[in-house]
Amino acid sequence: MDHQEVLELLPAYADQELGISEALEVQRHLESCADCQHEYAAQRIVSARFKKEAEYFDAPAHLAQRINAALPQDPPRAKLWSINWRNLGAALAAGLALAWSAGLYFNLPSDQDKLTDEVVASHVRSLQVDHLSDVASTDQHTVKPWFNGKLNFAPPVVDLAPQGFPLIGGRLDYLGGRPVAALIYRRAQHPINLYIWPSNDRDVAPQLQNKQGYHVVRWTWDGMTYWTVSDLAANELENFAGMVRSKVRQ
Ligand SMILES: [Zn+2]
Repeated sequence: MDHQEVLELLPAYADQELGISEALEVQRHLESCADCQHEYAAQRIVSARFKKEAEYFDAPAHLAQRINAALPQDPPRAKLWSINWRNLGAALAAGLALAWSAGLYFNLPSDQDKLTDEVVASHVRSLQVDHLSDVASTDQHTVKPWFNGKLNFAPPVVDLAPQGFPLIGGRLDYLGGRPVAALIYRRAQHPINLYIWPSNDRDVAPQLQNKQGYHVVRWTWDGMTYWTVSDLAANELENFAGMVRSKVRQ
């Protein structure tokens, strides 16, 4: 699959509408093409945003019923309203569409919100296309060197098997338009993705978020940003984050 073909498939890829083999080909190309990474990041934002905002288009019908129910019942006015309703409905829809597109440009979610969407989408995609690991190993000394030459930083890879979070493997991924290390751990049947990339930000204590039924914990320490996501219970994921933090500090 060449660059042009991948570019054309990116919207479908962002919406997770491709078959597994196509998705894998696109993913493979993405790993080595900065242009496509950039375009993909933009697609993801638009598609996530559209899905979220599209729900608002349901409002006019609902609103129409409520307004109709509240209308005075004397025949002449009711007739007047029923004649004009079409125009009113169209005006309302146009107004909402305008508000929606204005919101799209002037009320963009924060970078952190966008990244949370991306992290959750990446986690879900890694499970959907059965592409959890590029290197499958429970040995940190196999997984860590696997990233050599693939990233311009060395992610810390810690062993948490004794704590009940065995390492499953590692994977290259893309978040916020940059290549990141993804480490995969498991707690019972729950896969955990731990994303790591370098950061110039100051240290930030762990913060928990709940998104689409997944929990996300993120923190920054010593020049690295960590985001971990799983369907684990919040306290278990926070425990996991705490253990990663203390192991990385050792
Ligand atoms: Zn490309």
